[in-house]
This record gives sequence, structure tokens and C-alpha cells, in this order.
Amino acid sequence: MGRRKKIVQECERLMDEPENIRNIAIAAHVDHGKTTLTDNLLAGAGMISDETAGEQLAMDTEEDEQERGITIDAANVSMTHEYEDTNHLINLIDTPGHVDFGGDVTRAMRAVDGALVVVDAVEGAMPQTETVLRQALREGVKPALFINKVDRLISELEEGPQEMQERLTAVIRDVNDLIRGMTEEMDDIDDWTVSVEDGTVGFGSALYKWGVSMPSMQRTGMDFGDIIDLERADKRQELHERTPLADVVLDMVCEHFPNPIDAQPMRIPRVWRGDDESELAETMRLVDEDGEVVLMVTDIGVDPHAGEIAAGRVFSGTIEKGQELYVSGTAGKNRIQSVGIYMGGEREEVDRVPAGNIAAVTGLKDAIAGSTVSSVEMTPFESIEHISEPVITKS
Ligand code: GDP
Repeated sequence: MGRRKKIVQECERLMDEPENIRNIAIAAHVDHGKTTLTDNLLAGAGMISDETAGEQLAMDTEEDEQERGITIDAANVSMTHEYEDTNHLINLIDTPGHVDFGGDVTRAMRAVDGALVVVDAVEGAMPQTETVLRQALREGVKPALFINKVDRLISELEEGPQEMQERLTAVIRDVNDLIRGMTEEMDDIDDWTVSVEDGTVGFGSALYKWGVSMPSMQRTGMDFGDIIDLERADKRQELHERTPLADVVLDMVCEHFPNPIDAQPMRIPRVWRGDDESELAETMRLVDEDGEVVLMVTDIGVDPHAGEIAAGRVFSGTIEKGQELYVSGTAGKNRIQSVGIYMGGEREEVDRVPAGNIAAVTGLKDAIAGSTVSSVEMTPFESIEHISEPVITKS
């Protein structure tokens, strides 16, 4: 059996273990390194080859994006990662980094439970760092911080350990000031500030593929002194091998971001305006795969073979081929033609996708990004103005 086929099978198995699923977004101010980091994670999880990570820009699927060099359309990818002897399924939603695409970022955030916020060590927190944090927190999405481009502090700015520590501490303090300011009024969020000590902050270089966190330093025995020495000696390959970025970040994701079972009870009342007492609210809070189907569409992509693909978070029930589902804001139902998951930007067909996962389906001809797709008529996640053709009725 091919390697890819094996990964797909493993993803399918893990889809039924919601406690081992993490739905996450990576969000950043433009150019802080989100795309480079994402490629690293894909390579680390064996989805693309190590050599092409950083060059391939796997998440930038649209030609337009590659031309402009920015990510403008949310793409989705699933990967597996072993953490503490247990395999985890990580569904990653790419958020647009450009300031014009705020609506898409909110939508991507709605589908995830954790957001890895990437901040450039040299530039520090920027306006869009604040925007993405606000969008995450408003959606009840837990943040963690990755401070990127640390190589530049060492090699370009030639900072010593003391200066580096001061700079990194200042970045963490700024991010925490933002988080604290945004969550103070929220009574369902205790303390979502990040810290080195609890492992919710990572540092590293997406470009040179190394990373560290407090837990990783304890595991590998490498400290900042070792890193500075290796980086200065231009031994970046050794740094990558001794403390690979993907492992550090994916461990952090598994350890600190909530799984759907922990996240949905808190998030559903926050992101869905429907009746809290209803059975549907209960099945969504419980991530019940036997409940009514509820899919929130975050992105519509086009596959050259399959046509339009709607991707989104399954909050309840199980999506399967042949189901006739309501699409919010439209009359009638659409029939699911195929069900799949994304891997490295490519879609793989599977038989079914249960609650707690990200699904990529075809057949939802009336769905747009933001649509709620469900087996019963329900209050949608967002109200959207559908632009539809005039209906001609016979009298
Ligand atoms: P995005 O806009 O957040 O997706 O940022 P990209 O991943 O496209 O990175 C923007 C630029 O920063 C590119 O030229 C990258 O090669 C560069 N870059 C990304 N990560 C690092 C890093 O860790 N160190 C250095 N020196 N450059 C980086």
C-alpha cells in the first residue's frame, strides 16, 4: 500500500476518535511566516517532502495567490501526528493573511478550536496580529503563540542571549496584553494568556525548520545558548535535525489546543444564535455523530475533476454520500455527491466524515462560504445574503 493511502486510512480511523482530533488555524500578520510554517508542518507530518517545504507553498493553491505571493483563500489540510504514543488527527484551516479578507478569517476561525498565532520576532505584534487574535477570541478559539524568524535575531541583528530574551519577552508581553484586553469581559474564558512555562509559546525559524518550546528544551536538552551557537556556526541543518520545528509545533497543538469534545460545549453557545435548549444544540455540544447533520461551510474551492468543493466543520451528525441536506438561505435541498478530506491541498474521498472533523464535499451547488448545511431546517451560523436568480412562478 502506498504511503499516502496509509495516511488517508489513518486519518479515517482517527476521525472517529474526537478526543484525538485538533481543528486549528494558523493566523498571522502578512509576511510573518504563516505559509512557510504551514509547509513545515505538512513536511513534518509526511504530507510533502522535506526538501520542497518552504519552496512549494502547498497552501497557496490558487494561481492568483502564487502570483501575488499572499494567501487569499482558506485552504484545508488534514495530517496525523504522534504525541505521547497516541496518533492525533490535525485538521488545519488556512486563514487569509491579507487585511482585505477579514470576513474569511472569521469564518475560518469558526471551524477551529485553536489558533496558532505567528509573530515575526523582529517586527513584533502588528495590527493584523491584533485583528486575528480578536477574531479568534470572539469565536472562543484558544490561542497559542509561535515567534518566528528568530534566526534573524541571531544572524542578522547579532543579538546575544540577554538581548534576545528581552526582545522575545516583550513580544509575549505585547501579545498577552492584547489577549487580556480582549478576554477581560468574557465570562466563559478564564485566562487564555500564553506563557513559555506552560508551553503555549514556541520560538524558531520556519525558514530553517527548527523550533523550540519549554517542553521541547526539556526533552532534547537544547537551550538558547546551543541554538545561538549552532545558528551562528551556520549549522542550520543540524539545528533542524536536533530540534525539528514540525515536532515542536505539532506537540504544542496536541497538548494545548482543545479537542472538539472539550471545545464544542463552550463554543456552540458563543458562535450559534439558535435555541440553546433544543436537541440540536445538545447534539452539537456533545459532538454527537449520530445526531442531525450540521456542517458550517468555510470555503468553496474548485477541483478540476470534481467541480465545486464545499469544505467546513461538521459540528454534529455524520456526512455521507447521497444525503439530501438543507442549505441556509436557499429553498430546497442539495444532494451530497461525494465526501472527502483535504491532504496537502488535495482532496481524498472517504466514505463518511463524522462530527468534530473538517469535511470537503461535492454536490452542494447552492452553498457559499458561510452557509450552514443541515439535515433539518435550523438557525444558520451566519446570516448571509444569497444572490439568487429570480424565481419564475407559473400562475
Ligand atoms: P505569510 O505571508 O505569513 O504566509 O509569510 P511567508 O511564509 O510567505 O513568509 C514571508 C517571507 O518571510 C518569505 O520571504 C519567507 O521566506 C520569510 N520567512 C518566513 N519564515 C522565516 C524565518 O523563520 N526566518 C527568516 N529569516 N525568514 C522567514
